[in-house]
Amino acid sequence: MLSEEQIAIQDMARDFAAEKLAPFAMQWDEEKHFPVDTLREMAGLGFAGIYLQEEHGGSGLSRFDAALIFEALSGGCTSTAAYMTIHNMASWMIDSFGNTAQRAKYLPGLTSMELIASYCLTEPGSGSDAGAMRSKAVRDGDHYVLNGSKAFISGSGVSDIYVAMVRTGDADTAKGPSGVSCFIVEKGTPGLSFGANEKKMGWNNQPTAQVIFEDCRVSVENRIGAEGEGFKFAMMGLDGGRLNIAACSLGTAQRAFDKALDYAKTREQFGQSIAAFQAIQFKLADMATDLEAARLMLYEAAKTLDEGKPEKTRKSAMAKRFVTDTCFNVANEALQIHGGYGYLQDYEVERMVRDLRVHQILEGTNEIMRVIIARELLK
Ligand SMILES: Cc1cc2nc3c(=O)[nH]c(=O)nc-3n(C[C@H](O)[C@H](O)[C@H](O)COP(=O)(O)OP(=O)(O)OC[C@H]3O[C@@H](n4cnc5c(N)ncnc54)[C@H](O)[C@@H]3O)c2cc1C
Repeated sequence: MLSEEQIAIQDMARDFAAEKLAPFAMQWDEEKHFPVDTLREMAGLGFAGIYLQEEHGGSGLSRFDAALIFEALSGGCTSTAAYMTIHNMASWMIDSFGNTAQRAKYLPGLTSMELIASYCLTEPGSGSDAGAMRSKAVRDGDHYVLNGSKAFISGSGVSDIYVAMVRTGDADTAKGPSGVSCFIVEKGTPGLSFGANEKKMGWNNQPTAQVIFEDCRVSVENRIGAEGEGFKFAMMGLDGGRLNIAACSLGTAQRAFDKALDYAKTREQFGQSIAAFQAIQFKLADMATDLEAARLMLYEAAKTLDEGKPEKTRKSAMAKRFVTDTCFNVANEALQIHGGYGYLQDYEVERMVRDLRVHQILEGTNEIMRVIIARELLK
């Protein structure tokens, strides 16, 4: 199914994951270390702008290629790979919907990762119902004055660039998703501040915090697209983002499975390897089957997005729902096969389970994926 070029890209990502991510993932998780230098090394391989145009340093690859890359990287460190997906998503929004000046100003730094990007949609009062956001941008001459806050923002405080969806317009036009606009807010802008780093179950090696706007003046030149287009851009970003997150689930669960398979062959109980028990064999067989199904579904959805087919949003939602649920279960079963050792940090599977759990929640919860799928079925 893969071209020679795709196999080469996949090999490059796998080698990087094995050498530069896997040996450090446990320590980064424990020390809550955000590995910016490693992210920049990854950018050197073209992974910070995978599906961005080549004009300003993007790699010009497809969503399918991105799925292969994130699957491979996440086998080394789920959270680092997942952060790279968010950076790609936010940068892609500037590449796709920004004007010539915005693209020339920001993309060279973003594709080399001298600039790190965050995606700011969620607010304390609006998560799944993101269109109900309350943060506001009020026009004042050639600036907007932003007030409000964004919750759970990955990279908050460390990132240089915040691609933020904020409500604009007057009282009538500003309601619902159609009143949302998209802004590039640079770190250092007066009135931009950050909340405390959240204490989390997983994804510990990247910061998650509020992004706060208090009379934060942003130039009109930093608005992406026209007023009112922001929500549409944010949702289009998420189609690809959901596939990337699913790819991170797949690569992680594959690694957990590989570890469980090795462990089952070497761990002995009742005078034989536990792999000799049919209960364990069936578990492994089901896990391998589930991974295969998840992989096929992800790749197919990525192809659909690459081809711009009308069903791309539904397929992305289906893949995100199925792959992240399936892969969480596979990783959890891998932990079970390790018995008590699976619960210890040394064997790493517990980190994988912790990291994968949030993939069922963010970029639209898996309940919201069902809402999207059902909406299309019933229309
Ligand atoms: C570690 C982490 C990193 C994140 N990073 C980012 C980021 O970088 N940028 C960003 O913008 N956001 C980010 N998020 C936010 C994430 O996208 C939201 O948490 C998610 O969309 C859910 O919103 P909520 O937490 O407000 O839950 P709620 O929307 O309050 O949902 C609560 C529960 O109700 C269910 N529910 C809600 N509506 C429906 C419905 N219509 N039908 C059925 N069930 C429903 C949900 O599925 C969920 O189970 C991150 C979250 C986490 C945990």
